[in-house]
Amino acid sequence: MSATLDALKEREAKLLCRTYSRYPIAVKCGKGSRLWDFDGKEYVDLLAGIAVVGLGHGNEELAGVMAEQARRLVHVSNLFYQQEQLDFAEKLLGTCHAGKAFFCNSGAEANEAAIKMARRYQRKVRGRDAWEVISLDNCFHGRTLATLSATGKHTEGFEPLPEGFRRAPWGDLDALDAAITPHTAAVLVEAIQGEGGVFPLGRDYARGIEALCRQRGVLLICDEIQAGMGRSGKFWAFQHYDLTPDIVTSAKALANGLPLGAMLASDEVAAGFDYGSHATTFGGGALVTAVGSRVLDIMRRDGLVQRAAELGERARARFRALGERLPGSIREVRGLGLLLGIDLDATPEQARAVWAALLERGYILNLTHGTVLRLVPPLTIDEADLTGFTDTLEDLLRHWR
Ligand SMILES: *Cc1c(COP(=O)(O)O)cnc(C)c1O
Repeated sequence: MSATLDALKEREAKLLCRTYSRYPIAVKCGKGSRLWDFDGKEYVDLLAGIAVVGLGHGNEELAGVMAEQARRLVHVSNLFYQQEQLDFAEKLLGTCHAGKAFFCNSGAEANEAAIKMARRYQRKVRGRDAWEVISLDNCFHGRTLATLSATGKHTEGFEPLPEGFRRAPWGDLDALDAAITPHTAAVLVEAIQGEGGVFPLGRDYARGIEALCRQRGVLLICDEIQAGMGRSGKFWAFQHYDLTPDIVTSAKALANGLPLGAMLASDEVAAGFDYGSHATTFGGGALVTAVGSRVLDIMRRDGLVQRAAELGERARARFRALGERLPGSIREVRGLGLLLGIDLDATPEQARAVWAALLERGYILNLTHGTVLRLVPPLTIDEADLTGFTDTLEDLLRHWR
């Protein structure tokens, strides 16, 4: 282990709260889908800062926008009209059916805004005493108290959790139907569960959920924080299933690494908020939204959504072929676009060993749900990096037993 890494580890133990168990790497710099540590070792980044750096590291165009905007205006607060915020809102709303945006700084905050909006819409617009939000088992919606309550994991020691959340079992429409009561305000789902191990809802299930929501007068909230922004091969993952969610939440890739979150709602549902209903100091400031606008311009200009669809399709075919060449190595290959999951036919300990060996060989990705290698590379990644990864994985899996 390098001296720099050792020194950073020691300082961190003294200085930071013990919340993160880190990978054994300290990154010095990055370019495109490559990262370098302090010893000069090069890595292929198949993680992209957890589905955040969709346009790659060290993007010159975005660096230019940042520098220029930083000199002109970084932040004035939401007490003022802001042209950058409106330009971004116009472009982002242009990607789907939603009519109004609210900007914040993270995924959890976007979901908080969605939960608040769903409750307030039900009460103020529909006159219904409905507050409960139903999410699905194995979901991930964030780490604030309310989103933690929706997620239902990582809750130990944080009780009492906010009330008004319940979970329904995955894949069971009857159970969801039974979970909905007169007090249910909304159903909150990821079109593709990301942290949970890369599980797409599938068309029938997704459309069944939407139909149930409509029948029962319950709002549908799609959490697109990970699967959105082109990653799935459609701009929004729910568009694979032709859904029209009442509320959409986004964050991770919105500003290619600057903190920016968004909640998008239909005009009807957005009437739930009034002046003063909700606010945040930093949300949608000039710097982050100027960058967000350019991110959307680049995605359109370079056809990155279609690119994610094509590269992802071919990557999954390669992973499946690998599984056939090495029976008993891969349980399942899942995902849409460049949100890819390879479920290893292994114990969590074995899967961890494969993950660590990949890291050693210079491939950064993560392991979720015990045995799932999850790849969320920049949408700009060279296909050769994905084929190189497949070859390396094959080599490891061949020699692993
Ligand atoms: C990452 C993530 C969140 C939380 O986002 P933060 O910015 O970490 O608060 C919520 N939902 C999904 C699906 C995510 O992937």
